[in-house]
Amino acid sequence: MFDICIIGAGVIGSAIARELAKYDLSLCLLEKDQDVSSGTSKANSGIVHGGYDAKYGTLKAKFCARGNQLYDQLEKELHFGFRRVGSFVIGFDDQDRKTIEALYENGLKNNARGLKIVDGDFVKKREPYLSDQIQVALYCESAGVISPYEFTIALAENAVDNGVELRLNTEVVGIHKQADHFVIKTHQKPIQSKVVINAAGLYSDKIAKMVGIEDFEIQPKRGEYVLFDKTQGHLVNSIIFQTPTEAGKGVLAVRTYHGNLMIGPSSTYIEEKNNVNTTAETINEVIHAARKSLPNFDLKEVITTFSGNRACSTKHDFIIEESKKIPGFINIAGIESPGLTAAPAIAQYVVEMVAASHLISLQQKSHFNPERRPYHHVSEMNPKELNELIQKHPEYGRIICRCETVSEGEIKDALSRSIPINTLDAVKRRTRAGMGRCQGGFCTPKILEIIYNELGIPVEKIEKKTAGSYIVVGRTKKAFH
Ligand SMILES: Cc1cc2nc3c(=O)[nH]c(=O)nc-3n(C[C@H](O)[C@H](O)[C@H](O)COP(=O)(O)OP(=O)(O)OC[C@H]3O[C@@H](n4cnc5c(N)ncnc54)[C@H](O)[C@@H]3O)c2cc1C
Repeated sequence: MFDICIIGAGVIGSAIARELAKYDLSLCLLEKDQDVSSGTSKANSGIVHGGYDAKYGTLKAKFCARGNQLYDQLEKELHFGFRRVGSFVIGFDDQDRKTIEALYENGLKNNARGLKIVDGDFVKKREPYLSDQIQVALYCESAGVISPYEFTIALAENAVDNGVELRLNTEVVGIHKQADHFVIKTHQKPIQSKVVINAAGLYSDKIAKMVGIEDFEIQPKRGEYVLFDKTQGHLVNSIIFQTPTEAGKGVLAVRTYHGNLMIGPSSTYIEEKNNVNTTAETINEVIHAARKSLPNFDLKEVITTFSGNRACSTKHDFIIEESKKIPGFINIAGIESPGLTAAPAIAQYVVEMVAASHLISLQQKSHFNPERRPYHHVSEMNPKELNELIQKHPEYGRIICRCETVSEGEIKDALSRSIPINTLDAVKRRTRAGMGRCQGGFCTPKILEIIYNELGIPVEKIEKKTAGSYIVVGRTKKAFH
């Protein structure tokens, strides 16, 4: 019997697992997919928001500003990559100015840090490639960028290193409440737990319905993006938002943590929760809208498009509560943007909720280790450091992904850590091998070979990300004897 079982290993479930791992509890983290961060947490803008946007008084507002403040310490402990680059909401006319002033006031109430209203010259000095038409902007010094999947992986890995039992490929298909515990049905053996935390993202309404909670639905709203090569990264230094209008929020332009230019997202309600296609029509709209802020990006430098789905709840705010009807069942649902920013603060609050509910007693662990071992990313090392590393471990001198400069050593490290992985995308999200200009065109065969050598999985059985997504399907030439 577990004390607490968390359903869903996105950023929310993983942050909660790590925070609870600070206490003497038996904890289980269930994930239906083959890796953590396989849902919305892998495909979003990767922005740690300042906290001025969400309406004062909402849960989004409360947890966003708090979450933002926790990132510096988390980066020190988990080494996932975080930089406070600042953000601008840019305005072109008097109407935008009014909206920007209202955002500023809202931000002060929300306790957002580092806000000021600035003129077009201030913006241009920092962002010379933006439109000449900008008259005013809301600058937020505390906003930052992260790689969202690396953050989620870091949280989950540190949780596992501190005793959390992570079960991948484990889909929850039913939950039964007994007198003093829950029985969670999966396709493997049922799991028993005193407390259940529902962090299933887009599917959190489905999980809640399993115990008879039917007062919210999750509606997926898709956001499509265009990602450019790093050659375009210099066009922006910080995060550039457009002023929200009645027609929509506009699109942002950002240099991602790893230095690519990215524009997007669009905003369209869709039917299927798992539909992450992109469409030519929407991508063209994103490009058109982004030109208003940043007129001169080069479309020849686009390397890919992608999309992620927001888990919008019919309650129009985050749902963070223990069910009154079903004590011990905690919903963390409807976590749309700024869920990434808010995740660390939500996780701390969940610990307070568990403590207050008196369902289990919380004793701090004496041996919790907040530190996660950093990767040796050869692309970020100076020649002296790199030479020393290669002397000791020659595999760091063999470059597998030429676009992103990823070595064999990094891939082997990823394959040997505490979260067991065996897919191409899992390697990609930990090392960046395959993320570059050629999108895996050159390095895929080499990565397959390393996976085979390290884990013994035949190359034809290695999947890209989901069950059956094989990469190698047969031989192109028969051997003649
Ligand atoms: C387009 C877009 C842009 C965004 N930009 C930002 C941003 O810049 N900054 C920011 O702060 N926020 C942003 N967000 C919001 C942020 O991405 C989300 O709030 C956050 O990723 C939600 O995390 P989650 O853990 O709740 O969901 P998920 O990451 O979806 O995790 C839920 C997990 O539950 C698993 N699961 C589902 N059903 C089951 C089951 N039956 N059994 C077991 N496991 C199950 C899923 O496989 C999944 O891994 C953005 C979102 C989108 C879509």
